[in-house]
Amino acid sequence: MSSILVSSSPTSRLARLEGEHFDIVVIGGGIIGAGIARDAALRGLSVVLFEKRDFGSGTTAGSTRLIHGGLRYLEMLDFGLVRMDLRERETLLRIAPHLVKPLEFILPFYQSSIFYRSKMKIGMTLYDLLSYDKSLPRHRFLSAEEVKKLEPTLRQHGLQGAAAYYDAQVNSPERLCLENIIDACEHGAQTFNYAEVTGALHKGHRMEGVRVRDTLRDDLPEVTIKGSVVVNASGAWFDRVARKLTDRAKPPQIRATKGIHITCPPMVQRAVVLFSAVDGRLMFVIPWLGYSWIGTTDTDFNTDPATVRATSADVDYVLRSLSTYFPMLDQAQIFFSNAGVRSRFLVRATI
Ligand SMILES: Cc1cc2nc3c(=O)[nH]c(=O)nc-3n(C[C@H](O)[C@H](O)[C@H](O)COP(=O)(O)OP(=O)(O)OC[C@H]3O[C@@H](n4cnc5c(N)ncnc54)[C@H](O)[C@@H]3O)c2cc1C
Repeated sequence: MSSILVSSSPTSRLARLEGEHFDIVVIGGGIIGAGIARDAALRGLSVVLFEKRDFGSGTTAGSTRLIHGGLRYLEMLDFGLVRMDLRERETLLRIAPHLVKPLEFILPFYQSSIFYRSKMKIGMTLYDLLSYDKSLPRHRFLSAEEVKKLEPTLRQHGLQGAAAYYDAQVNSPERLCLENIIDACEHGAQTFNYAEVTGALHKGHRMEGVRVRDTLRDDLPEVTIKGSVVVNASGAWFDRVARKLTDRAKPPQIRATKGIHITCPPMVQRAVVLFSAVDGRLMFVIPWLGYSWIGTTDTDFNTDPATVRATSADVDYVLRSLSTYFPMLDQAQIFFSNAGVRSRFLVRATI
């Protein structure tokens, strides 16, 4: 059962939960919380999920929208992580083919040494080997002429060729999130948006549940809900939520950074991976719903993630990073921008 719309009744839609006990209480209705709720419900556990705003409106909506195996993690020799991500990619292609689609990526070479191109060849071969059971085509190498035919808007001067490989794209991660919520509900979970977890119930040192308020009804009292396990799936809000759940002072457990995207007229047929002309960071130009989805940045962000926005300095960085490769970007109209906050754990998380 879900509560996506709010009733105008004088009692809160949350009131009927007062004192109820669940196996799992999930805080946060982004893709992670929604996935946890669905997985737990499918296993027959009783689940309740609270999201303080719209489902999927946090970092989930601010992502580059790629379902990738993490080619770059190969540099860290983290083969286990890449294999796991590649298996997840295949699962998503299978269970959500209406949302998750194969996408070819091109990594053009400009002024690249033979050593670098050989390293890419090894990386691509490993990526194929680690996804030996995949449904997507294997990597290939393209000549400069072939790249020119495939992506004519890319700068031709100095182009040596490209590596091409497949990953996947989800045009709307918000919808993928919502479909997880809906499926969780169909398997017995209860999910509530505009319901903010404000604190925890404790018995000694043990957390027994949470307090929740209806963010659309300030006139109504908070509700207490019990849970055997409380999962903090609030992403970039992790430290803020952890502080609400415990009285003990904790050092920050995540590092939060902002990433933005801009949407421009269509420039590419497939995803193009480039290194920023400003600082060498990895950048993407991706075909998205008939437009180009271009990003991203990575700057520390220490205020409320709900306030994240692309500034003109962020947009300027993206344009300066990529216009040397896509000359048309200099004059391109920017239709809109969006932003999200990444969270990386500094230490093993505990609440
Ligand atoms: C610029 C950028 C690009 C990215 N690109 C990719 C990509 O291409 N592919 C990929 O796989 N990943 C990508 N990521 C990472 C990916 O977006 C995140 O890993 C993912 O969205 C995290 O989901 P989440 O559910 O943890 O967080 P969120 O979607 O932020 O969900 C957390 C939710 O918790 C809610 N919440 C907070 N406090 C409370 C409270 N007290 N009570 C109730 N609810 C609360 C928030 O409102 C929020 O909706 C990218 C991230 C960024 C920033």
